[in-house]
Amino acid sequence: MRGRSGRPRRRQNRIAGVAAILLGMLIFFFAAGQLRGGTGDGGFFRRTGAGDFVQTQTVILDPGHGGADGGAVGVNGTAEKELNLAIALKLRDMLTLQGFTVYMTRETDKMTCDPGLTGIAARKRSDMHNRLALMEEHPEAIVLSIHQNQFEQSRYHGAQMFYGRGNPLSAQLAQSIQDAFVSLLQPENERQIKQGEENLYLLWQAENPIVLIECGFLSNPEECEKLCSDEYQSQVAFTILAGLMDGLSGGMSFCTENGMDCTAGETVL
Ligand SMILES: [Zn+2]
Repeated sequence: MRGRSGRPRRRQNRIAGVAAILLGMLIFFFAAGQLRGGTGDGGFFRRTGAGDFVQTQTVILDPGHGGADGGAVGVNGTAEKELNLAIALKLRDMLTLQGFTVYMTRETDKMTCDPGLTGIAARKRSDMHNRLALMEEHPEAIVLSIHQNQFEQSRYHGAQMFYGRGNPLSAQLAQSIQDAFVSLLQPENERQIKQGEENLYLLWQAENPIVLIECGFLSNPEECEKLCSDEYQSQVAFTILAGLMDGLSGGMSFCTENGMDCTAGETVL
């Protein structure tokens, strides 16, 4: 971890470059009407030197809460669960366009618990177990858990990443996504990434690379209003995508398959 003053400019420039390329691709695909749901095939990563294509990466998106579990409540009354799902669905479409295989722990407003359980505690426990079961079913998948933050004092704002303890890639991806938020959305954000403790069940239990993304504070009126807007939700989803791809491209080329300029990637973490 490092403070903003220590964040290399080269890395910031690189994220901006990655973002520009991604944006171009997304605009192209949207314009070509190729946006579709489900899983995609054919990614854009090529390993430096070796020339062999990396297997299409699998991502599990985990929109936090759902159904009877609303999560935090925004100052304007919006439930966290709704924003988590809205951002995750946008991110799903962007990831699919980039060739990722995407699974989601939920795609609607529901708890993922087993049927027939009574009592919120039992249902919440089952909900968490089932989310973890999907991760165990796909041990190769990177997990991005989408949440919104809340605090007693309204002045706090800004995105912050928490990472799991079971896989070293978690911290690397958390840092690159944190850096993407600073580079693309929140230049004043000085928050540091943190490892999730035992109270963050999925971060503690999962063996997958896993990052919990606190997109912003619902207790901050300005940030809450932004997070409720469709446009800002798209910007957040795009920022997460750029951070993920930048984190994965350490040591790889970032290029398109049709032979566009491919400059060697470098690991600067
Ligand atoms: Zn939450």
